[in-house]
Amino acid sequence: MLNLVLFGPPGAGKGTQAEFLVKTFDLKHVSTGDLLRAEIAAATELGIEAKKFMDAGNLVPDSVVIGMIASLFKANPDTKGFIFDGFPRTVAQAEALDQLLNSNNAPISGMLSLEVADEELIGRLLNRGKTSGRSDDADSSIIENRIKNYHIQTSPLKEYYGLQNKLTEVDGMGSIEEIAERLKLGVETL
Ligand code: AMP
Repeated sequence: MLNLVLFGPPGAGKGTQAEFLVKTFDLKHVSTGDLLRAEIAAATELGIEAKKFMDAGNLVPDSVVIGMIASLFKANPDTKGFIFDGFPRTVAQAEALDQLLNSNNAPISGMLSLEVADEELIGRLLNRGKTSGRSDDADSSIIENRIKNYHIQTSPLKEYYGLQNKLTEVDGMGSIEEIAERLKLGVETL
């Protein structure tokens, strides 16, 4: 199995690039942000609870996202591999993911980390907010909080996967096609 973590701050281009990697390597795309937004759209109890955190630009509690991932694994026993986008976002989530995957004998193959400067991220997210309909993309203070939370809670995962020799840093600046090509190369050299 090829199990990839597509990593990077909000606005790094993970969603766009995940779509490309899904097609190239025939993987199942797992975006916890998309799963949470689907719960909100369906007005489930989980969605209503998660929305409070998301609207403020904070992370949803680990137990909620880990539970969603565990159910997703059960529902997709025959996939060739997963590409995780926006998950894991904390060390506790990474540990839970390792446990779930190791029990299936299909560990993470590698983490591809998209490197983009903060100033560029804010511009990209505000721009996306004009068309995405996402309230967390429309307000610069919420965007700044998401980036701050990324640095505090999420960026330590680079060390987590680095210590397992699974980290590949990829330049996230340039055209979508250029970045896609760098990612493809990154996967091929894992
Ligand atoms: P995203 O679509 O990945 O930008 O996620 C949008 C929002 O959903 C984030 O700002 C968080 O509030 C929440 N979220 C998505 N994935 C996670 C996760 N793995 N852990 C905690 N919160 C998450």
